Formats: sequence, C-alpha cells, structure tokens
Amino acid sequence: MENIMTNENKMSRRRALSGLGVAMATVAAAPVLAGAALPEQTGFAPVDLQDPTTKYPKPPFTHQNQPWPALASKMVPRPDHGEETYKGSGRLAGRKALITGGDSGMGRAAAIAYAREGADVAINYLPQEEPDAREVVALIKKAGQKAVAIPGDLREESFCKKLVDEAAKQLGGLDIVVSNAARQQSHPSILDISSDQFDWTIKTNIYAPFWIIKAALPYLKPGSSIIGTTSVQATDPSPDLYDYAQTKAATTNFLKSLAKQLGPKGIRVNGVAPGPIWTPLQMGGGSTPEKLREFGKDTPLGRPGQPAELASIYVQLAANDASYSTGQIYGAAGGSGQP
Ligand code: NAD
Ligand code: MG
Repeated sequence: MENIMTNENKMSRRRALSGLGVAMATVAAAPVLAGAALPEQTGFAPVDLQDPTTKYPKPPFTHQNQPWPALASKMVPRPDHGEETYKGSGRLAGRKALITGGDSGMGRAAAIAYAREGADVAINYLPQEEPDAREVVALIKKAGQKAVAIPGDLREESFCKKLVDEAAKQLGGLDIVVSNAARQQSHPSILDISSDQFDWTIKTNIYAPFWIIKAALPYLKPGSSIIGTTSVQATDPSPDLYDYAQTKAATTNFLKSLAKQLGPKGIRVNGVAPGPIWTPLQMGGGSTPEKLREFGKDTPLGRPGQPAELASIYVQLAANDASYSTGQIYGAAGGSGQP
C-alpha cells in the first residue's frame, strides 16, 4: 500500500512539473508533500549492455578434478560469486540469514549479496571447506555485516538443530533460511550406487532441509522467507544422476507444499532452479571430466552460468517487495530446462 501511494505521488509530481499551469501544480501539491521524504531515483550513470553469451568463460575448459568436497578457490577459472561486482541497495537491511553451503557456489553468491544488501549472515559448510568459508566470512565483514561461520555435517539431525539454534543466537534472530547445500555424484548406472551412497545423497538433500526447516520455524516471524535450491534436474533428470535428480524433484515438491502450509502464517517459501553453473559441486564428482570440458555448451547461451548470475534471485525471493511470491520456482538455466 505504501509503495502504491509512493508511485502515485511521484507521478503526480511529474505531471505537475511538466508544463501544467500554476493552478494545476497547486492542486497536486498535497500528495507531493506527502511523498517528499522519499528518495527520488535520478542521477544514475548509464550501465553498459552486457552480451550474456560473451560475459563469462565458455567451453572448452581445461581438465579438472578435485576430491570431494571440491573448493571454489582451486577451480580454473575461478567462479564469479559477485565478489567484485555485486552492488547492494539496502534491500535486506536488518535481516538475519542462515545459508547452508554458504562457502561456495550459489550459497556464497547469496551470502555476498545478502551482506551487501544489509543482512547479517550465518553460513554452514563442511570442515574441509574452511579455506573457502574464510573468504566468505571476510567478504561479509567487509560489507559491514555480522558473519557467523558454523561448520558441520548436515547428515546429522542433532547438528542441524544445533546449527539453527546457534545461528539464531549469534545473529539475534532469524528471518531468512536458504537451504542450499547438496550432494551430487555422477554414476553411469544405478548398479554403481551403493545403499550408503544413496543414503548419503538423501540425507544431505532431503533429510537436512527437513531438519533445518523444522528447527527454524519457531524463529520465523511473518515476513520471513525460506528459499531452497532445486534444479532443472527436478523435471529433466540426467541418466547419471539417478539419486541426485530425484532429490531435486522432491525439493521442488516440498517447497510448494510448505508454501501452502506456511502461507497463512506469513512465511514465504520459494525455490531457485539453476541449470549448469560453474561450481565445486560439479568438480568433486558431480560431473565427469569429459562433461566438464564442454560444460554448458549445449545451452542457448553456449556456456555455464556463474553463481553471481543467480545472486539477485536469492535477494529478490527474500526481500519484502516479493511479498506475493510464494510456492514459486525461479529458473536460471541459460535458456534450456524448466524450473
Ligand atoms: P557447491 O559445491 O558450491 O555447494 C554445495 C555445498 O553443499 C558445498 O559447498 C557444501 O558446503 C555443502 N554440503 C554438501 N554436503 C554437505 C554436508 N553433508 N554437510 C554440510 N554441507 C554440505 O555447489 P553449488 O552448485 O553452488 O550447489 C548449491 C546448490 O545448487 C545445490 O543445492 C545444488 O544441488 C544446486 N544446483 C547446482 C547446479 C550446478 O550446476 N552447479 C545446478 C542445479 C542445482
Ligand atoms: Mg563448497
């Protein structure tokens, strides 16, 4: 309501100042004064158009393979998480966010963007990913925000609960939960997937969000936002991602279920569905070295996406102005795939 009034006021002012008579200008004066305290959007320097096909590295890529969990800091080329580019405008000022998998990939891009939008941010990651996590903590602090680092394995229910409680305690509350961590391993055949592997994938991708969201709910006030990272795999599964792809179908599904359950409580629940994105997930067994060489080539943009290209989606879904978006899946897949 406030925003609608604001826009009307701005329009009234423009009409009033665009050559109408003094009498008309006087008539418009009351609403103009009502909106006078609001900032005017003027004086922006023009932004260059960017061709999305040439904006970032394209295949072929050099051979790379890392032991799981891979590090962003060891990738060639290094992914862009928005470190040098993301500019905030206070869209999340005062918010308190927990992001799983916040050390790298989409989680890191969201962490950087959230901090630059004015949020305090807690990240979870695996202890082996400490070098990546330290970079993120430094970036959050550089943005002038509180950074909380909570390493630990999400396959443990007790840790998931501790993680949420600790994040809420250290941040002084919680109003954004980004359930983003995942396990993806490529296996050519279902026969190659042991029960232990299957369990590992399901625990990380399905049980952990269940435990985390349950633990977070008591902290979430109306206006809070839950965001899950799903995938184009939810609807178009690759043959070598039998276990992973089905967890993404389930993720899309539980996000929509929760949106219906939590809508009446004023808590929004949405998902982001990436296509092929240049992240450690793919390097540590998520993809094969052969597939990585040509990664993203078959998309209409002819290249993989970079985590930075999804940051604004995570911001948008958390921000107050997306207040009518819940149960939605926002895609970013370079032109192929459906959310
Ligand atoms: P990433 O490797 O940077 O992030 C995944 C993170 O999951 C890791 O950093 C790690 O901290 C965390 N993680 C994994 N197992 C864990 C465990 N047991 N305990 C705690 N943390 C654990 O890769 P990413 O691609 O940014 O992945 C983020 C999300 O994006 C995932 O949900 C993934 O499924 C999704 N996704 C990625 C792609 C892609 O092409 N990269 C495409 C579609 C969806
Ligand atoms: Mg990582």
